[in-house]
Amino acid sequence: MSPSALETPMMRQFLSVKARHPDAIVFYRMGDFYEMFLRDAEIAAPLLDIALTTRDRGKQDAVPMCGVPVHSADPHIKRLAELGYRVAICEQVEDAKSAGGRRLVRREVVEVVTPGLVGDPNGIDGRRELCLVALDPGASVGIAILDASTGEFRTTESEAGGSTLPLAIIEELQRVDPREILIPDGATDLADRLETLLPGAARTSVSLECYDPARVSEPPEGFDRSRSDSAMRAAAALLDYVGANQPFALAHTTRLGAYRLSDTMILDSATRAHLELFRNAEDGGRERTLIDRLDLSMTPLGARRLARWVAYPLLDPVAIGSRQDAVASLADRDRRRARLRDALKPVRDLERMLAKVARPSSTPRDLAALRDSLEAIPPVIAALEWIEEELFQPDKPSESCLVAPRPVPELCELLREGLIDDPPVVARGSRGANETGYIREGFRPELDGIRERVHKGRAWISGFEARERGRTGIANLKIRFHPVHGYAIEVTQANLGRVPTEYERKQTLANSERYTTEELRAAEQGVRGGTEQAAALERQICEELRVAVVEGAAAIREAADAIATLDATAALAEVARRDGWVRPVVDLGLALEVREGRHAVVEPLLCAGGGEFVPNDTELAVADVQILILTGPNMSGKSTYLRQVALIALLAQMGSFVPAASARVGVIDRIFTRVGASDRLARGESTFMVEMRETAEILASASRRSLVILDEIGRGTSTFDGLSIAWAVAEYLHDAPGLGARTLFATHYHELADLARTKVRVSNAHFEAREWGEEVIFLRRLVPGAASRSYGIQVARLAGIPASVIARARVILGNLEGGELDERGRPRIAGPAPGGESDESQLGLFPSPSPPGHPGEREVLSLLQEAKVDETTPLQALELLSHLTSLLRKEDPS
Ligand code: ADP
Repeated sequence: MSPSALETPMMRQFLSVKARHPDAIVFYRMGDFYEMFLRDAEIAAPLLDIALTTRDRGKQDAVPMCGVPVHSADPHIKRLAELGYRVAICEQVEDAKSAGGRRLVRREVVEVVTPGLVGDPNGIDGRRELCLVALDPGASVGIAILDASTGEFRTTESEAGGSTLPLAIIEELQRVDPREILIPDGATDLADRLETLLPGAARTSVSLECYDPARVSEPPEGFDRSRSDSAMRAAAALLDYVGANQPFALAHTTRLGAYRLSDTMILDSATRAHLELFRNAEDGGRERTLIDRLDLSMTPLGARRLARWVAYPLLDPVAIGSRQDAVASLADRDRRRARLRDALKPVRDLERMLAKVARPSSTPRDLAALRDSLEAIPPVIAALEWIEEELFQPDKPSESCLVAPRPVPELCELLREGLIDDPPVVARGSRGANETGYIREGFRPELDGIRERVHKGRAWISGFEARERGRTGIANLKIRFHPVHGYAIEVTQANLGRVPTEYERKQTLANSERYTTEELRAAEQGVRGGTEQAAALERQICEELRVAVVEGAAAIREAADAIATLDATAALAEVARRDGWVRPVVDLGLALEVREGRHAVVEPLLCAGGGEFVPNDTELAVADVQILILTGPNMSGKSTYLRQVALIALLAQMGSFVPAASARVGVIDRIFTRVGASDRLARGESTFMVEMRETAEILASASRRSLVILDEIGRGTSTFDGLSIAWAVAEYLHDAPGLGARTLFATHYHELADLARTKVRVSNAHFEAREWGEEVIFLRRLVPGAASRSYGIQVARLAGIPASVIARARVILGNLEGGELDERGRPRIAGPAPGGESDESQLGLFPSPSPPGHPGEREVLSLLQEAKVDETTPLQALELLSHLTSLLRKEDPS
């Protein structure tokens, strides 16, 4: 029987690697391929759409395998990570030569790519963060967040904790949208919870010891090993995980930043979706989103900073003012802004380039790319010279105002002198083995010396041909080079007779013979040896340069940080200037006033299509018009308006200018949105429950500082209970003590307009519509008062419904409307809440066999109903009568 395919030395090596990485798909390097074996191959082949084969056809235990070429492995690795798998990259860590062909080359896992640690930042969208999160559940819940592709590392914690996840942490996790979450071993409840909350994120269990901050051996700046709060513990677990899987990534993770959730506006996932901040509602893409609208950044650094600003609007008017100052200073100066933006462009993605260089497999080309970006910094500084002194405030956090980046001249110089302008592309993993010549001449005398020797040897060889032709008289004698056999003198068949005796035959070809001589062999050895020596030395120098860069990582990251802020600020200034946005006043008041506001995203789209956007005002104030009810037909512009106002508030608090003639925003702690069920039907969500859950969340969490946007409530159920819920919700927002959130409420329930009659801080508005021949024209202009109730009938008339039907419809509408008023002409629907103002009549929507008001009356009634008059004696009748009257007296104090 043939031996088992699992018994070969190579399979044994593979199995021992696999034993150390049982939960990963092992990419086992074999020459120019990464091979996968056994179960790994069976999993990966269909996912990567590659052929599953075996080399052991017919043998016992034939091993299934598949493979990908090394040079194109990266997208495959990323694909597997995206699908939630881990990939262990197992490289050959010695030359086949040094193993001498006697034994298997040594192989080691140099990197484990996981869903949250995707490794090489090539090919991932530079405009977004790609995060790994570690979570420490405890008395307070801490999370640490790392984008390993940039080294951006931050941590925060919630006050509350315990067995359930606090809402603030859930919302933060949803905002960060991590690819992978680390949780402590055994936290199964937590794992289940996270699965429902963040279905797209992989969950990885790590041992509890990893959470010990004291174990972190090389803490980044801002990491305190003596602390043991949950934020620090989460950070420790995250560093431990990176160290275990991609240790080199620690080199550019130079600083841990701490932030407080209470410093920024809360935007829950529903609101982010409804306002289409990062993804549009149609296909989840970036087109037609706020970020897409704002992102005129010149570098991915700026794009990511803008995204951060959109995701975390500020609450402190001073910090907001400082960003606004920066935007204003750039918005006011067109030529200088243009110069700055031109200067920013060549900087490219410093952070991800640094991450690339931190990888041991990085190439000279990666180093040169980083160098070119670093060299682009001084022109940025030059383009900033004009900025008034006060804008440069090095002590202030760089996110809130302009800071000139600090150049890193020594590093630039080193890389400039060390590397040629355009180093060659080198395949992944080959570490420049076959490429030479990228170290600049004059950088290292030793290298120059070797190169000189090689050069001389080559020159001697090429002169050798002419000399030998002359010496032998063989006119077509040629010196050939073969990569394996080396140099040879080639003589054709016809001239063999003239070959000198000292020629040693090397090789016989069809029409010629190849020879060598002692001299040629010596020269060849000199050239070959020299070339190898030079290549080894170049690799060594390149590694030295790489280490120098990694040591300067903190300075590079700092410069990148300043550039990010500059770029994001310049982008906001560009938008503001180009589209006529203005600087809003942001204060601690409770008003929200906008003159001629426009929708940041809809306006340009409309204008691009030849349309015109109609600006509208907003005037909300907690003490005055706290709730604005917008009635009116579909398509009149309600939704657009609601979102427009919310976006203006959000833009204002992120420090941007806003699309309006003027605006004042009293700081908003949270924007709540609840958007009509019909809008979501298309996405197949069970609507009414979702709708009510969102509404419950608003009523539970809104504060005096919140902005509440309600676009239809109660649509997902019957008219009566829908209307009743809508009504009660509006009343609650108005009446609940300590609430008073500024509210915009769009609804198709005209009845809600009646709220304004009884609630002082409720006001009505609608969008104007005109009849134009056979059509209704929407003017998109917001005007005070409720919309006409007969709008639908008007449209029916225009559509050609017979006049008699229209007339009858008007009568019925009149009746219905009349039915909503009580006998004193007051709106029945506006009746008192239980225990509320007692003077109001009952809710009028339901036909009333009016059940009597208090329990005593009810008891009296039921006693009367039960009484059997036929069998009652006069005495009993009197007793009953006395009992009944006493019941009624007890209940009625008057
Ligand atoms: P509703 O919520 O009342 O159904 P929408 O807000 O969806 O209405 O608006 C309907 C259409 O009107 C949209 O296509 C939108 O582009 C356009 N629109 C809305 N507001 C304006 C405006 N202020 N100026 C111009 N067009 C607008």
